[in-house]
Amino acid sequence: MAAPRLLPGMGKLFEMPAMLGRVSRPHSTSHAFAEVLRLPKRQLTKLVFPLQEFERHLLQDSGSDLHLKTFHPSLEDIARAEGFFTATARNRIEYLSSAERLDHAPDLPRPEVCFIGRSNVGKSSLIKALFSLAPEVEVRVSKKPGHTKKMNFFKVGKYFTLVDMPGYGYRAPEDFVDMVETYLKERKNLMRTFLLVDSVVGIQKADNIAIEMCEEFALPYVMVLTKIDKSSKGHLLKQVLQIQKFIDTNTQGCFPQLFPVSAVTYSGIHLLRCFIANITGNLKTNGT
Ligand code: GDP
Repeated sequence: MAAPRLLPGMGKLFEMPAMLGRVSRPHSTSHAFAEVLRLPKRQLTKLVFPLQEFERHLLQDSGSDLHLKTFHPSLEDIARAEGFFTATARNRIEYLSSAERLDHAPDLPRPEVCFIGRSNVGKSSLIKALFSLAPEVEVRVSKKPGHTKKMNFFKVGKYFTLVDMPGYGYRAPEDFVDMVETYLKERKNLMRTFLLVDSVVGIQKADNIAIEMCEEFALPYVMVLTKIDKSSKGHLLKQVLQIQKFIDTNTQGCFPQLFPVSAVTYSGIHLLRCFIANITGNLKTNGT
């Protein structure tokens, strides 16, 4: 398997924003990703394409039908995507409002993506990591399970809206299912649902209920494996393999490729940003 290569002239991306003009972009690429690009190749691959580390094992175990590289954009595309997540005067990234019910949700024309998951799965931390290039955006991260009781809407420039849904499971609000179900079923501009699974414990009963909900409503959704820095490589491999197989055999609407992430090491965060920019129609990549 070929490791991602730095394309000739890649460094110039950071000097000449005008070169990036395939799609309309808010501004030049972030410094953070410029630093990532300077990492040794192995470290860079691990950080940007965390699933790749398991490719050999996964293929050995399961043959060639696993979808490891369904979305595998170039580093240039990933660098472009960073721009959408970087706050500037012209690209305002901000918390908009919260709602307890769909009819209180802001009426927004932009494409929307939402994040759902069990309480404590690492949802707030992941959203915070996605917004690390817009540090003034306040995403509440709490040690107490079940703190997110409302849907929180965040505007990402003029490009899309990101919605943080209340956590389900332990001490979730009583009307959680009603609220989430109605939103998932009726939100017209919802482009993709990101369903978070904790890599330490794998798919739990409450996750299965959310998966069934996504399947029943024929929603396009994506599974994100959180906290990957917390597990040994062996444990993570087991989870990745199990969940990839689960996606392949038990789901219709789930994107075939799992997205492992860590809000601590930032592993997988850049790839996820690129995926979001892509599926909201803002960035065409060669990766799909
Ligand atoms: P939420 O209830 O789903 O919003 O979960 P939080 O984001 O509040 O995270 C729950 C707990 O897991 C907190 O103690 C976080 O610090 C921790 N956590 C979240 N993401 C990660 C991660 O990627 N790595 C590690 N090691 N801990 C994490």
